[in-house]
Amino acid sequence: MVKCPACGADNMPGQAFCDACGAALAAPPVVPPVPPPPPPVGIRPRLVVAGTGVQFDLGGKAEALIGREDPVSGVFPDVDLTPHGGEEGGVSRRHAKVSVRGNQWLIEDLNSTNFTFVNNQKLNPGVPQPLKDGDQVRLGRVVLTFQTS
Ligand SMILES: [Zn+2]
Repeated sequence: MVKCPACGADNMPGQAFCDACGAALAAPPVVPPVPPPPPPVGIRPRLVVAGTGVQFDLGGKAEALIGREDPVSGVFPDVDLTPHGGEEGGVSRRHAKVSVRGNQWLIEDLNSTNFTFVNNQKLNPGVPQPLKDGDQVRLGRVVLTFQTS
């Protein structure tokens, strides 16, 4: 119930004026909750480690660093390939970067030691290359699959 500020009578919530005295009832401000923007339907960008099937979810990130964690150098990649054969496979600490521009995902080699390949095509360092669903991404000898569906 809403108490009238003028006479104290109880009124039904949502009424603009008091039933008893006609005073305007102070309506609490209506703040509609702002829903988060819905994710694009069916799009769930992720990198899947070949062999193990471990998935790195890229959803909600504007960009993600792929490499190997190195606390000494302060490198903490979003996609840390250390537990996935990263060191033996020649993955650099800062190996590649995946970013999204609009609906287009891009991958960029960060001047890695052992190069980044998309579908066996070597990337030029520093040149973002479009990624699409099902592309094979290889960093050194570590193979990932980019998937969005
Ligand atoms: Zn009243």
